[in-house]
Amino acid sequence: MAQSIFIIEDSTALSRLLLSRIAEHSSAEVQCFQTYLEAREALAAHRPLLAVAGLNLPDAPDGEILDLLASNDVPTILYTASLTRSIRERFCSPNIVDYYIKNAPDAVDNIVQTIVRVTEDAATPVLIVDDMPSARHELAGILKKQNYRILEASSGAEALALLAKNEAVELVVTDYNMPDMDGYALTREIRSRYCADRVRVIGISASSDPHLSVSFLRAGASDFIYRPFIPEEVQCRIVGNVQMLEHIRHLRFLAERDPLTGLYNRRAFFEQAHGNLDEMREHQGEGSVAILDIDHFKKVNDTYGHDTGDSVIRAVAKVLLDIAERERLITARFGGEEFVTLFPGCDCDTVHRLCEEIREQIAALSIPYNDTVFSITASLGVAMVQHEEGIDNNLNAADQMLYMAKNNGRNRVMYDAVFCAS
Ligand code: GH3
Ligand code: MG
Ligand code: MG
Repeated sequence: MAQSIFIIEDSTALSRLLLSRIAEHSSAEVQCFQTYLEAREALAAHRPLLAVAGLNLPDAPDGEILDLLASNDVPTILYTASLTRSIRERFCSPNIVDYYIKNAPDAVDNIVQTIVRVTEDAATPVLIVDDMPSARHELAGILKKQNYRILEASSGAEALALLAKNEAVELVVTDYNMPDMDGYALTREIRSRYCADRVRVIGISASSDPHLSVSFLRAGASDFIYRPFIPEEVQCRIVGNVQMLEHIRHLRFLAERDPLTGLYNRRAFFEQAHGNLDEMREHQGEGSVAILDIDHFKKVNDTYGHDTGDSVIRAVAKVLLDIAERERLITARFGGEEFVTLFPGCDCDTVHRLCEEIREQIAALSIPYNDTVFSITASLGVAMVQHEEGIDNNLNAADQMLYMAKNNGRNRVMYDAVFCAS
């Protein structure tokens, strides 16, 4: 059977809501049960990947379902009407992944997020830094319940090496007392290499010094946890930081991308181009820049409508993106039906070949319209990057070539004099 999730809840309205929300975000198969007996029968036949269970069922009013799930070793998200001390204590039992309070406005969202995190293959990595193996082990035990992928380092130096090797690691949980470099020094070192929206640090210590947390925060940590741990607190702080990283990633995506095509926008292109040009200048490396404009695009809009015009823009973007990914180029939508591509480190022959390929692939596109298809063309202007010039002047040179390509009949690539001479 495919990965499955059991929802054990007597309110059908709630089960249905969970069912539809889970289906939006996860491919896991979901089965719903309203009573303890139904759930017991199903568990005898099959152990699910995860269960979401209400605490009180008509035939098991005192949370007996949790004991049943625990004895079957099923990771469980508890859904409860009220939060009592005994529920909090239950949270420490190894199979309870998390609990949520019914009627809390974000409960369903949080449950779905937790399900996605626990069931997805690409688990979020967390780096635990502590010189004591037992302390690492304790923390890892708490986090593994939530399907975090745990990496461990026994020293600051090892942590920095692991971070450098694993770009996916964005969250570090570090102890304060360590022999080579203490938690502050490691935090400062991480901060000097990565900004806070790339790697977040949570400090830990068993010290009773109340100022320790402030010093960690001043060194650049985002959060702090005192030992001995309350597992629930550890989990809340980790989830909070992981969610913050997800929000940042999403905002960065929105800020950098053109919504119609998903390509970089003008601003993101300039940011990347500046860095690339600096590097090219430093190594006196060659490269080119191309501006592409769809031919007679106004006519496409006028003839087939704006929506079809949008699909044309997306189809052209896809050609550019596929080639850019394959050849490690930087491509962006500059506005309207105009795109720009930077060819860092490419010699003239390569640029020539790739620009022709782009032009040919665009001319070969079949754009569907009602029951027919139509085709389009694009023109490109290409200039060889001049190291002494800024990106603006290099783009101007390419733009002049684009103008010539348009004047010379469109559906062609024109290269500037420097390009042709080399
Ligand atoms: P040329 O061959 O000389 O480039 O002619 P053209 O018609 O392609 O160029 P022109 O600049 O006259 O027209 C571009 C049109 O692109 C005008 C504008 O309404 C349309 N346009 C700009 N952005 C979008 C968009 O996001 N979607 C759609 N569908 N049309 C857009
Ligand atoms: Mg055009
Ligand atoms: Mg134009």
